[in-house]
Amino acid sequence: MISEIAKNIAPSSTLAISAKAKELRGKGIPILGFGVGEPDFNTPEYINEAAKNAIENGFTKYTAAAGILPLREAIAKKLNEENKVSYTPEQIVVNSGAKHSLFNAFMAVLNPGDEVIIPAPYWLSYTEMVKIVGAVPKVVRPSKQNGYKLQADELKNAITTKTKAIIINSPSNPTGLVYSKEELKQLADIAISKDLWIISDEIYEYLVYEGTEHVCIASLSDEIYNHTIVINGFSKGFAMTGWRVGYTASPLEVAKAMSNIQSHAVSHPSSISQKAAEAALTGDRTSIHNMIAEFAKRRDYMYNGLCEIPGLDVLKPYGAFYCLVDVSGLYGKSYEGTIINNEATLAKLLLDVAEMAVVPCEDFGIPNCIRLSYAVGIDVIETGIARLKKLVSNLQ
Ligand code: PLP
Repeated sequence: MISEIAKNIAPSSTLAISAKAKELRGKGIPILGFGVGEPDFNTPEYINEAAKNAIENGFTKYTAAAGILPLREAIAKKLNEENKVSYTPEQIVVNSGAKHSLFNAFMAVLNPGDEVIIPAPYWLSYTEMVKIVGAVPKVVRPSKQNGYKLQADELKNAITTKTKAIIINSPSNPTGLVYSKEELKQLADIAISKDLWIISDEIYEYLVYEGTEHVCIASLSDEIYNHTIVINGFSKGFAMTGWRVGYTASPLEVAKAMSNIQSHAVSHPSSISQKAAEAALTGDRTSIHNMIAEFAKRRDYMYNGLCEIPGLDVLKPYGAFYCLVDVSGLYGKSYEGTIINNEATLAKLLLDVAEMAVVPCEDFGIPNCIRLSYAVGIDVIETGIARLKKLVSNLQ
């Protein structure tokens, strides 16, 4: 009774981990949650106020499918001022979260059988979303020595006559890698020489550390601009995961197609959330800057703490809020009879024994690794690292 496409789609393992952790917490077990991909900060008050005003003023009716004009104007202004790339409000489509933005983009440019190049490790929804629209994910595996950054020759070798698009995610979930302007330009030039779409997921743009610069790939040349769909949103940078507001910036023709698709699927994102998002961009962002400064501290704390644990190989993140840890150095060791021979066994041990939830990364295209989010308080990070250290020191 279930469609072939639906049968082929894996459930989201990150949501499954969060659900398991929640269930254990419900039973009174104080699980430390390193699985989540959302800021632990509450949405800043200036944004909440705008939403309350929207409700009080009856701004609770249908809006334009592509989103309210003042929000699209604010997004175009932001892209112009912060990312040095020029879009008109007509080229912006506001969606129900960046996940939805990606979905609209895939629906708008992919035909069944088209191949989409996805560099691993990747955010686990990319492959499944590509499959949902009937296209084919083509995973490329950049080497660890290059910090998992896709190289020009790797991209060239992966392109076939069926390739239609490439996904670039910088800053990346789960690696925290951030491509430089030169690296992006090199990849983009190859993509446009083959007439590919560049789907650029920039949802973590504000979360960059140690002076690392986020570059919007569409800003690099007119040709690149004409081949790019920028994906961004409010979830991570403004602590607004639950509000569900993302957006795309793209050539006009694609924007129209995405708006059309969206109008038949969800009509538009919540009117109240749109007002909140408009305020997020136009209001005083001091609280947002403070949140980002706090993430920078947590990142140092977690990275340094993990590096001290023998058997773990930790990738230094320059963006987003995750540490990717290769745990294969622990393989062959055991805990009370349980032999660790893959990342999933270790993740289960961590949940059962150390009472901490981490994400095993096979579904992110990187077996042997776990991902820990530092979108949690320093005290939680401190306790988690102590528990992890203890478990590792008790392995035989
Ligand atoms: N893109 C990446 C790389 C993500 O990690 C996530 C969320 O985890 C999203 C997109 C989705 O963001 P949103 O919550 O706005 O749908």
